Amino acid sequence: MTREEAKKRLVSLRAQLDQYAHEYYVRDNPSVDDSVYDGLMAELKKIEAEFPELITTDSPTQRVGAKPLAGFKQVTHRTRMISLNDVFDRSEVEAWAVRMLKLAPESHLEFFVDIKMDGLACSIIYEDGIYSQAVTRGDGMVGEDVTENIRTIPSVPLRLRNSAGNKDFLSGRTEVRGEVIMYKKNFAKLNETRQAEGLATFANPRNLAAGTIRQLDPSLVAKRPLHFRAYDLLVEPPSRVASHEFAYRTLDELGFLVNKPTFKDSYVAKDVATVMKAVAQWENERLNLEFNTDGLVVKINDRALYDRLGVAGKAPRAAIAYKYAAEQSTTKVKDIFISIGRTGAATPVAMLEPVVIAGTTVQMATLHNESEVARKDIRIGDTVVVRKAGDIIPEVVEPITKLRNGTEKVFHMPKRCPECNTVLIKSKKDDAVWRCPNIHCPARVQNRIQHFASKAAMDIDGMGEKNVGALLSAGAISDPADVYALKKEELLKLDRFAEISASKLIEAIEAKKQPNLNRFIYGLGIRHVGAQTAVDLANHFRSMEGLIKATIEELSNVEGIGEVVAESIVAWFSEEANVQLLEKFKRYNVWPRALNKVGGKLTGKRFVVTGTLRKMDRDEAAEKIRLQGGVFQSSVGKETDYLVVGENVGKSKLEKAQKLGTKQINEDELINLLN
Ligand code: NAD
Repeated sequence: MTREEAKKRLVSLRAQLDQYAHEYYVRDNPSVDDSVYDGLMAELKKIEAEFPELITTDSPTQRVGAKPLAGFKQVTHRTRMISLNDVFDRSEVEAWAVRMLKLAPESHLEFFVDIKMDGLACSIIYEDGIYSQAVTRGDGMVGEDVTENIRTIPSVPLRLRNSAGNKDFLSGRTEVRGEVIMYKKNFAKLNETRQAEGLATFANPRNLAAGTIRQLDPSLVAKRPLHFRAYDLLVEPPSRVASHEFAYRTLDELGFLVNKPTFKDSYVAKDVATVMKAVAQWENERLNLEFNTDGLVVKINDRALYDRLGVAGKAPRAAIAYKYAAEQSTTKVKDIFISIGRTGAATPVAMLEPVVIAGTTVQMATLHNESEVARKDIRIGDTVVVRKAGDIIPEVVEPITKLRNGTEKVFHMPKRCPECNTVLIKSKKDDAVWRCPNIHCPARVQNRIQHFASKAAMDIDGMGEKNVGALLSAGAISDPADVYALKKEELLKLDRFAEISASKLIEAIEAKKQPNLNRFIYGLGIRHVGAQTAVDLANHFRSMEGLIKATIEELSNVEGIGEVVAESIVAWFSEEANVQLLEKFKRYNVWPRALNKVGGKLTGKRFVVTGTLRKMDRDEAAEKIRLQGGVFQSSVGKETDYLVVGENVGKSKLEKAQKLGTKQINEDELINLLN
């Protein structure tokens, strides 16, 4: 990026972020998810780091919140109310800890870890132990006087509690900072009522809490169930509060709701490893809390050191917010190309500037089909929101059209297959998908063979994209059956293979000559026949011979198979090239065993797996569940019986399961069910 390009991009990024911040902080009505704001903010920070001379004082990286609303009396904070710098993974926590040690080499670092509540920051002032004033964070310097509104919150003490240890805090000025939040259940109920009354609903509990506190009528505030959870205690001289841990304990004694240090949700960690343990522990558990969180806050426990390290930009040096991986972010579409699948489907795919989402780098995202690109109006060069939820293929959610600069290009579906130049067709007029009808199209052939050898099908090790590509271009194979005629000498002629790798591949192929019926059916790559349908077909027909003979009517009678699938199966088996292919398999003695009926104790039970399993991979889990008669689903729905929760789970599935009351089990419990 040149300086000139950076300058232009900064202007539009800042304008867009200002717009989002206004909607979020002033209107309490955000138009985008936080991850979109955070994604653009990360880009802004990156460009500003590269061109520091372009940083302006009004840049969103330098400011907290938004100007206070007119209508409220404005109050200047005695101590600035600041924001927190975000970190997203262990390496960033470590880098922060190293920086802290450099700045304070003499100290033994101790961290205080707490849940980061997603609400509205508020400061409450007590004079001689009596509630006297409450002020919002505002722009960090000046906030809004919301004394009468905060007074209505039952968990705010109007008089500080008196106990042996805290006498000190009952005289003079005591400032308590914390977060005004609304519990999830109250939020849901309120939104339901509003909807029933035809009123606009709120986007999330934070915005509802913030919107409520900035109501001019306290009696209205009193009707809304709000809570205040304290996280900071400011007094003169500051040395009276030795540590964050002490502050929490004292706040508790003074009568505030706090995430208590004696509880597991806020505590002292002696090192980064312990901080990361808390991070891991809370990744899922936080979803069970009554209120929304957007991560953890990690602070240097020693208050004197914390204060000495000071503020950089708009955040304290000695604290960070650990944000859990979001399932979406923003990036740019570099290009759109067409990918031809094994059934000939021509799918537009966005080539992206690499972006880390939910822990993995995303460089490509599906755009599904031509009309989807047109409907979402995604152009080459656009800044877009990209989502990657769990195991789902990343997809482009929408473009951020305000960030366009006029150089973006509208995408046009090509008329011909980019691989073999055959004219693309639609099998039905209203079909959304264009297809390459040429069954010898190199892309189709390659994908078919890869699919046949893939883990969920024949599971032949060493038949990935590169090897299959090399074998195809050398003319060593031209269909899935040819794989079984490969000779070691042939492989050795190719650059990709040496003695050991060639022997290994031949052994791997040899080992899969008598496949399971369901895997073989799935491996054929018949349109609409996924792994689940393949199990259903195997279960019903018990042998390839039975399936080959089946009529549309017979197929439609199989549980779970509709007419479209039945037609597609019959069409596949009546195509001459496929008949030949099956003959070839037979010639090479590759034929699935006829099947004894599968199914058993999981019959009819529906499973979804989220996150990474330790003892088996997702495909294995799916097959085991199916072979016991269960159904393996890709997303949680009302009829899902079990959500199997692995490691590094996606938040959306857990939240949905909680909402629907789906039973959650871990991997060991699944294994118990399977055995
Ligand atoms: P922040 O709110 O993320 O972090 C700072 C705040 O954390 C503090 O002011 C404090 O109130 C709060 N906090 C909660 N628990 C705490 C604890 N235990 N200890 C200490 N502090 C605690 O920072 P910010 O810069 O004010 O806001 C940025 C957030 O707002 C981001 O999450 C961003 O995505 C969101 N945002 C979203 C939009 C949108 O359009 N969706 C627009 C602007 C901002």
